[in-house]
Order: sequence, then structure tokens, then C-alpha cells
Amino acid sequence: MPTSPNKQRKERRKAASATTAHQQSESQPTYNNVPRKLDRPHIPPLCAPTQSKFVPVTVAPRNDGGRCAYWPVCDDDRKVCGGYRPELCKTFGANGTEKAPSQSELNYQRHLKTWNTKNIMSNCAWYPFCGKAVYCGGLKKIYCSVYGGDNPVKEPPSVEVLKKAKRDAKNNKRKEDRMNKK
Ligand SMILES: [Zn+2]
Ligand SMILES: [Zn+2]
Repeated sequence: MPTSPNKQRKERRKAASATTAHQQSESQPTYNNVPRKLDRPHIPPLCAPTQSKFVPVTVAPRNDGGRCAYWPVCDDDRKVCGGYRPELCKTFGANGTEKAPSQSELNYQRHLKTWNTKNIMSNCAWYPFCGKAVYCGGLKKIYCSVYGGDNPVKEPPSVEVLKKAKRDAKNNKRKEDRMNKK
């Protein structure tokens, strides 16, 4: 995977916090031990946009610190960077100092943080039409951001076409492996 040296440095710096962060569910606030302020309106996290705003405060304090909407591209606590919503993050938001990552870049970075190694290495369920699942989310067909969902970006191939393409890809790979052994 192509990673810039700059990013790699960033990744290393973040590694310590990532080990704890990734054990927690995405939908949970990560910093529950900070004092609660109840004066601000509820803002659902980016990862749970459909969440009801009537969740009892004792269960889900939403005015506290926690992951920025641009996590993990922005690694600051949202109390620090303001990232309660994407546009509010003072690094990547509307008046941010850095260019905001695209949604697909953000998804990719999140997969890297939250998926296990096997999943990170996996092909998309639409492979060979699509590439690695870590980019498109396609661990299952419906999750692929290109061929999956109700409104796919690209027309998904039929089951038969996909099957044949998978078979061909496998055969080609076998052929290649044999060539490389010689
Ligand atoms: Zn931020
Ligand atoms: Zn895909």
C-alpha cells in the first residue's frame, strides 16, 4: 500500500492510542471520564448519523471529548479541534488549515485502524472487478462503495460473470506463480 513517509510517521505516533481505540466500538464515545457539559445540543457522531437524539445522557454523553469527525485522519480529541461535526474541525473542517480527506480516503484510514490483518489483506467481494476491500469496504458485496449498496457507482456484474472472472483471475495467478518459479 502506498503510504507517504509523512503519513507513516503520523501512523507511528498514533500507534499507541490506536491499540486501545480499536478495541472500542466505533459508535461509543471514547473518553467517558471527562466532566460532562450538558448545555450544548446533541450532535450524533459521523459513524452513527442515524442515531436518535433522545438517547439518555447517562448512556451517551455527546458533548464530551472523543473522536473527531475526521478520525483517524485528525487524531485530536474533538474537544481540542472542534470536530464534533466534519466542518467544525479546525484542522480539516470548513476553515481548516489542511485539505479535508475525501470520504473514501477517510473510510480507508478507518478500515486500517479497525480491521484485523486478514480483512485488510482481503480482496473485495467484487474482485477482480474491484480491488482490495480495505479501499472500498467490500468485505461483503453490499458494503463495497463502488459495486455495492442500493445505488452502486458502477453497474455490478451478474453472478455468472463475476464467478467466471474470479475463476479466470485464479487461473491467471496460478499461471503467473508457475512462471515465477521457473
Ligand atoms: Zn479534528
Ligand atoms: Zn469493492
